[in-house]
This record gives sequence, C-alpha cells and structure tokens, in this order.
Amino acid sequence: MIIAIDGPSGAGKSTLGKMLARKFGLLYLDTGAMYRAVALASINDGSSLDDPARISEVARSARIELKGEPDSLRVFLNGDDVSDAIRTLEIAQAASVVSTISDVRKTMVELQRRLGEESPAGCVLEGRDIGTVVFPNADIKFFLTAKPEARARRRFDEDKTKGRVSTYEQTLAEINERDARDVSRSDSPLTIADDAVVIDTSELDLSEVFDQMVGKINEKRTAAAL
Ligand code: C5P
Repeated sequence: MIIAIDGPSGAGKSTLGKMLARKFGLLYLDTGAMYRAVALASINDGSSLDDPARISEVARSARIELKGEPDSLRVFLNGDDVSDAIRTLEIAQAASVVSTISDVRKTMVELQRRLGEESPAGCVLEGRDIGTVVFPNADIKFFLTAKPEARARRRFDEDKTKGRVSTYEQTLAEINERDARDVSRSDSPLTIADDAVVIDTSELDLSEVFDQMVGKINEKRTAAAL
C-alpha cells in the first residue's frame, strides 16, 4: 500500500504520516528531509545555491540514506547522521531553493520511488509532489492544508519546544516564502492531485485529522478487497 501525503509546510504532514505508518506497519518517508540533505551537502561543499549544475552534481554524488525504525528513520549524508543538522531555518530555506532544480528533483524522485517500492508492506510518503509526480498511482492520496497563520503557529510552537529561537512573525514569513517558491516553480509545483482527499486542518486537532485519514484508508482497503 502506498499512501501519498502532500501539502504546504506546517499542515501536519510529518506527524500524521508517522502516525499512519505506525498504525498500518508501513515505512515512513519524509521526502523533504532528502531535499534538506542535498541543501546541507551543497553548503558543506561550498557550492553556490545559484549554480544549478554544481548543485545537481552534489545531489547525484551525495550518499543519502535513511536508517532506523521504519516510522522514524534517521537521515544519513555520506555516512554521517544529519537528522538534527537539517532542521535549521537556514537549511529549510536552502532546501526550498535546491528543490527548484529539475536535475535535483530527478535524482530525489528516483531514490524515493526505489525506497517506496522496496518496502515490502508499503510506504507512507510525505512531501509536495508525491501524489502528482512520485507515485501518481498511489493507493490513496491526501492533501493536507491549513491557513498560513495556523501553520505558522504550529511550527512556532514546535520550534519553541525544540529550543529553536524565532518569533511567530519570522516563522510566518519563512513559511510564506517557502510556500510561494513551492507553488510557483516550473518543475513539479505544489498542486492538489485530482484524486486527492483534501483536509483543511486549521480548526481540527491531530486526532480528528488522524481519524478522518484512517477512515478514508479503511474505505479504500475494503473497496479494493471486494
Ligand atoms: O517538508 P520540508 O519542509 O522538510 O521540506 C523542505 C523543502 O523541500 C520544502 O520547502 C520544499 O521546497 C522541498 N520539497 C519539495 N518536494 C518534496 C518535499 C520537499 O520540493 N517532495
């Protein structure tokens, strides 16, 4: 079973993706983490983010691996665990820039398809182009969204608990900037797949969204078994 979850930053994709992977015994792939790893590799390499040819080469030669528990994989770049290092604001912005480069996307999409297909039970993939590009034939597609203010509030609260220093206004600006880049890029912009189940999470708590998603997945599974 392949479950695709797309949507803008801070809509709850990661938390819900992990919860679904745990419930259904699937692998959980955070595809944003892969673009973040390319961004970190580019910065470590001293490459300019304005040099698409160089960044594409960095993406091709970087060894990005995901290891650990199926529903909470750690991210390794060239053998080093970078799971925490890729969670900074600087890397988020750089990931948003490198992800506009077509060759980078091509390399990442190949890796994502291979990992998803290799997982015996199936996979939950979370990102911006999963239902539209990476797995257009996914068994079920979700598009999670929420008002920018709700998404910024959640991201800000999450950052605070993790000790990251920022203000709500900065977080909102950062989210808006990345979203604008994601929806306007020419290759694989963030769009809603025709057959996606759209859930606006602004006014819902986590368990309500989770229950809705589980309900939809079970409907699909029942229909497929008939
Ligand atoms: O999801 P996360 O915020 O970690 O993603 C970091 C960046 O990677 C996003 O801002 C987006 O530009 C990019 N991304 C993408 N396609 C994906 C996943 C993430 O372009 N499938």
